[in-house]
Amino acid sequence: MSHSTQRSLHDPDFAGLREILAADGVNPWHTRALWGALHREGSLDLASRTFLPPLQRWIERSVGEGKAYFLDAPELVEEIRSDDGLTRKFLLRLRDGQTIETVLMGYAGRHTVCVSTQAGCAMGCVFCATGQGGFVRHLRPGEIVAQVLHARRVLGEIAPGRRLRNLVLMGMGEPLHNYESVMQALSSIADPGGISIGPSRIAISTVGVVPGILRLAEEKRPYKLAVSLHGSTQDERAALVPVAKRWPLESLIEACREYGKISGKRIFFEWTLIAGKNDSPETASRLAGLLAGIDAHINLIPLNPTGGFAGVESDGTTGEQFQQILLAAGFPCTFRQRRGIDVAAGCGMLRGAGRF
Ligand code: SAH
Ligand code: SF4
Repeated sequence: MSHSTQRSLHDPDFAGLREILAADGVNPWHTRALWGALHREGSLDLASRTFLPPLQRWIERSVGEGKAYFLDAPELVEEIRSDDGLTRKFLLRLRDGQTIETVLMGYAGRHTVCVSTQAGCAMGCVFCATGQGGFVRHLRPGEIVAQVLHARRVLGEIAPGRRLRNLVLMGMGEPLHNYESVMQALSSIADPGGISIGPSRIAISTVGVVPGILRLAEEKRPYKLAVSLHGSTQDERAALVPVAKRWPLESLIEACREYGKISGKRIFFEWTLIAGKNDSPETASRLAGLLAGIDAHINLIPLNPTGGFAGVESDGTTGEQFQQILLAAGFPCTFRQRRGIDVAAGCGMLRGAGRF
């Protein structure tokens, strides 16, 4: 069996796994046991476990080196820990040698995993280390699922008994540029018989891919939506987010209104504060006007420095003033908590450092 025709057992959702077994003449009744081993237990060594004979025989025949199926088990290249040990950033190597980042974040007993959806990113945001490095390829569903399994395994070691409850798609890549694979991975991750992270605790962050936002609404996807806005006029935004030329601010806001109307859900808007670029009181007032009538929460993010961008983060007073204007306009508006690890390596910076 050549490498390229091997398939991942972490790619398919439950129904897909059932089809795989059925196609090989195994009673689909066995799917639950295999799914549970892969997703609920996160086993990476099926051969060492005991299953009922028909499934056991199928695994011996079909899974492993030179056989039809493999398990997605990215290799840990490097791990960075915050001082309190609760936040860990992993650089993981995929089967083809590409590296991606995954972060496990712990706040007061609540644990969140931040995963990548692509190796690199095609959107080119000027302040983002991943964008500066360009696009490499989409991740398969199994490569997304495997990041969650890795983080959960580590959490089991550092805080036994704690559940991984929240997932954010805010790592490397643009989730809505890899729509099908991301949705398939999320179905698997949310499955109550598997990893079981509740859909309302899963947040998709997008740079503003308008057709993807509308599709999420039409398909009634049960996840949270976060939109990275960063600019209150077309020019202000396009200077930071080049894809604003393809999906202009006006059509993005229109899509957000539509999303809100169809889904009835709140939208989270992310705003990376950059001194002199998008942090003035006028910008804050304009932003409040732009979002009028939308059930919006604004999340302010301090800029992490990256090699390819000369901008600097807004000072504290400017940031607080920006927040006050939005609060006064009636919008919930919070600062993203800064953590030790952000200073050591913000998103995309570990891989972007060129050390690997
Ligand atoms: N591609 C998606 C999700 C990944 S980026 C998106 O853009 O939304 C996740 C968040 O990190 C985005 O809001 C992005 O704007 C922000 N971000 C990227 N680089 C940053 C940096 N250097 N400093 C602060 N925030 C950054
Ligand atoms: Fe891609 Fe998001 Fe980075 Fe923009 S901010 S380049 S969309 S990962």
